[in-house]
Amino acid sequence: MNCPCCSGKTYEECCQPYHTGKKNTPTAEALMRSRFSAFAIPNGDYLMQTTSPSKRQNHSKKDLQEWGEINEWTKLEIVDKPSMNKVEFKAFYTDQDGQKQVHHELSTFKMIQNRWFYVSGVFLE
Ligand SMILES: [Zn+2]
Repeated sequence: MNCPCCSGKTYEECCQPYHTGKKNTPTAEALMRSRFSAFAIPNGDYLMQTTSPSKRQNHSKKDLQEWGEINEWTKLEIVDKPSMNKVEFKAFYTDQDGQKQVHHELSTFKMIQNRWFYVSGVFLE
């Protein structure tokens, strides 16, 4: 299957090795992409594991898993990479009422012991 992150590669060549823990994401963008794919699959465990340990108490695996499940994730667009640890993106999805939605966010990431983590995001118009 094509990777849900819209890289044009297959899932096996793209985000799967990150989801299974075979490889660590080399860049913040790769982590962002793999997290989008993890919503599409969905893989709540991966979403929790890749959230910064200091921020995990703000999230629940169940909510992440459900958010992935109830929406249909159609497209990811990387808008900008203003610095090494920031990625601006648009995530396109269809919600449970069949409405097309766009989630536009500037996310901040952090590298801890050679692994990238999601810290937080600012929602944009
Ligand atoms: Zn991918």
